[in-house]
Amino acid sequence: MAGRGPAPAVAKNIPAANARRVVDVTGLYVTPGLIDIHAHAGVDRPASGLSYPANMNFSSGLTTIVDAGTWGARDFPEIKRTIIDPAQIRVLSFLNIVAAGMGSEKEQDIREMDAELCAATIKKYRDVIVGIKTAHYWTSLPWDATHPPWASVDRAIEAGTLADVPVMVDFWPRPPERPYEDLILKKMRPGDIHTHVFAQQFPVLLENGKINPIYAEARRRGVIFDVGHGGGSFWFRNAVPAVKQGFIPDSISTDLHMGSVNGPVVDMITTMSKMMAIGIPLEDIIRRSTVNPAKEIRRPELGTLSVGREADIAVIELRRGKFSYIDCGRAKMTGDVKLENRMTLRAGRVVYDPTGISMVEWSKAPKQYFMSPKKQSDPPSTAEPK
Ligand SMILES: [Zn+2]
Repeated sequence: MAGRGPAPAVAKNIPAANARRVVDVTGLYVTPGLIDIHAHAGVDRPASGLSYPANMNFSSGLTTIVDAGTWGARDFPEIKRTIIDPAQIRVLSFLNIVAAGMGSEKEQDIREMDAELCAATIKKYRDVIVGIKTAHYWTSLPWDATHPPWASVDRAIEAGTLADVPVMVDFWPRPPERPYEDLILKKMRPGDIHTHVFAQQFPVLLENGKINPIYAEARRRGVIFDVGHGGGSFWFRNAVPAVKQGFIPDSISTDLHMGSVNGPVVDMITTMSKMMAIGIPLEDIIRRSTVNPAKEIRRPELGTLSVGREADIAVIELRRGKFSYIDCGRAKMTGDVKLENRMTLRAGRVVYDPTGISMVEWSKAPKQYFMSPKKQSDPPSTAEPK
């Protein structure tokens, strides 16, 4: 692996002499920086207490995260200034159709779901807003005049059409007025993303254990299925039989927030490991954490390693042994593989390297490492090459 040499290159064998710096990644997988399209990024908002500090995601090999609807149109300029712009990791956003964003009773107020305001905000911030999110709308109380069953989905799709961006849907079926089949077979457009696909409330399997044919039908229509694990949206009883029958979600994502970081999600690399332990081949795991999510948010340049792009890279180790994983139903599954992210580069800089694969053994460090600064303004004791 070489970088910032005489000419940038992505190739299997680059002569070490052509590189400014060489990192030995023998036995490891070098992949494009990972992309999590269902994150909740930020500094916490007092209203929701939800979001996980964005740059901490480097530990999973992520170099791009997409906030899934924490923010709506009303706060977006402030959020961009305080969270998106200062983050070292690339932060993009699915804007909540609810102008007040996630985490208050306003999520239930259809006056907050202004498709034109949402679309206008997207058009203004196309560099960082990649789609729209609908979630958490009227999941249990009786229908009434101010709460039509499809309000949130319909307004989100209307805004998606106005701004020409995909909609990510977090959904709770309520038949007969709001059946699940209508969502994926009628309402969602090609390219719209159904997150939380293995949540407890979805009929992934028929009573005979076979995969529900509506999923293949929805896929033929172009509907995208995303993991969106979360604190309450992933069950082995749905995921394992579905994967064994060949239904693999299009993208792997975490729905990582303060309520899921200490389990059951933990992080992106754990979610990828879990999906691999279920039986998805490594190549498909990587594709669904890089190329596919990049395509889903219409940023295909982000999911690849190529000359002329920012060098966003993850270096991953595949370990074999006995490892167990947990779901949102407080059940576990034992598997024989685990992925470990060993190093992350964001825009060509090492931003995560806890075992020092890019570093020199201390006893062999250059002279500067052994120098004690006399004053604070003296050069620090570092082994880092100049
Ligand atoms: Zn979420």
